[in-house]
Amino acid sequence: MQRNEDGGIVISCDFCGVDWDEERAMVEGHKGSVLCLDCLNLALAQGEPAEDAFTCTMCLQEHQPGTRWWVHPSPGNLPGRNPEGAICWACVRLAAKTYHKDKDIDFRWDPSEHPKE
Ligand SMILES: [Zn+2]
Ligand SMILES: [Zn+2]
Repeated sequence: MQRNEDGGIVISCDFCGVDWDEERAMVEGHKGSVLCLDCLNLALAQGEPAEDAFTCTMCLQEHQPGTRWWVHPSPGNLPGRNPEGAICWACVRLAAKTYHKDKDIDFRWDPSEHPKE
């Protein structure tokens, strides 16, 4: 997400709150939402069915209980974090695909290891 700090705009990962240093790999969703590569790796490993309905921070869609999702398990208290940050599995997969395509980033993804459902 974006915030104003000292008259400038700072971009940060919605899920862990780490600020973007213009080097770090980041994937953008709707309304300036951002998922960093560290969070993507966690999301791929930890995604699980949500107990309640939720709105995905990246695609802004509402999802029913039982939809696989991910929220950061121990997000800390950085100002750049979105307290409502939650990502649906479809967006996790989309982000993985995006990082996978970027040859400058050391991340390769096998979709069959993380199927749609
Ligand atoms: Zn992050
Ligand atoms: Zn989503």
